[in-house]
Amino acid sequence: MENKKELGNWLTELNLDHPLVIAGPCSAETEEQVLRIAHELKDTDVSYYRAGIWKPRTRPGNFEGVGALGLKWLQKVKAETGLKTATEVANRAHVELALEHDIDLLWIGARSTVSPFIVQEIADALQGTDKVVLVKNPVNPDLALWLGAIERLATANIKNLGVIHRGFSSYEKTKYRNTPEWQMAIELQTKFPDLPLINDPSHITGKRDMIFDVSQTALDLNFDGLMIETHFDPDNAWSDAAQQVTPSTLVQIMKDLKIRKESTPKVAYNDQLKNLRAQIDVMDNQLLEILGKRMKVAEGIGTLKKQENVAVLQSKRWNEILGKMVLEGEQHNLSEEFILKLFKAVHQESINHQELILNK
Ligand code: PEP
Ligand code: MN
Repeated sequence: MENKKELGNWLTELNLDHPLVIAGPCSAETEEQVLRIAHELKDTDVSYYRAGIWKPRTRPGNFEGVGALGLKWLQKVKAETGLKTATEVANRAHVELALEHDIDLLWIGARSTVSPFIVQEIADALQGTDKVVLVKNPVNPDLALWLGAIERLATANIKNLGVIHRGFSSYEKTKYRNTPEWQMAIELQTKFPDLPLINDPSHITGKRDMIFDVSQTALDLNFDGLMIETHFDPDNAWSDAAQQVTPSTLVQIMKDLKIRKESTPKVAYNDQLKNLRAQIDVMDNQLLEILGKRMKVAEGIGTLKKQENVAVLQSKRWNEILGKMVLEGEQHNLSEEFILKLFKAVHQESINHQELILNK
């Protein structure tokens, strides 16, 4: 990815004074519907008009999209409103049709990103294009797969790239349709700071009343833009009805969101920030030092257990520690979720150290 510096030029060139907004219906349904939503989004923050033409449905029998016919409607959108157009492509035929109809932005859906064969086919079909190509995260939380797709596109000499964070499916029921696992998007952003990062709160939440909060979190985490499904009659949409918002709700969301600056040249701010960060660095080092010491003690326990041939895992003792630490954590304003994660990790490392001693 030598050319990653240039990957985000398409976004810089838009010269926006707000986050990028991609909006439009989950699916193109009729010509009337597509054009009506587009006209309602015309004089807003929206730069790209999205509409799914080929819909990847998890189960057959649901509405699978209007097909190539919808591309003509998107061309009309561009001609009548000036909005740039965007749609999902999932194979070579889709790419060729989208290019023929001069679609400005193509995205690879979450169910396609999981398949290197599909991604490679799309990359080959798009070879050298100057269209914008965005890659949604794969349905499973696998950063390598997400990065792999970007690499395949970059290798095919596609210069205008970006990623869409739409959350990850999980077996457990959560309040999200797809859990955000924000740390994955953050890691990707840290590795490739020049790659535009767009949040898709519609598919993360699955519910329109949660969209604002997730969008705000995304902006707080320095995301470059939002993709929000929009329909004039969300409840009667042919797909993803529960998560679509009306154009006027979208405008309100954009108005209410707090847009954070990436930084400020203010001297006092930067001095204080530097000071606080120095304190954090010192404490992080102290944390490591104390964890190292704790493992040394664990090794001592390992030696003792070895002498007496006692098992490493002592569940009763461990459950007592966990319970105590959750209560103790409360005193320090640390959430139960965090304490459980932290101590499970510490415990695992401790077991690993003891195992080494026992099996020496
Ligand atoms: C969509 O954007 O409508 C879509 C199908 O999204 P995803 O690939 O994230 O499920
Ligand atoms: Mn959708």
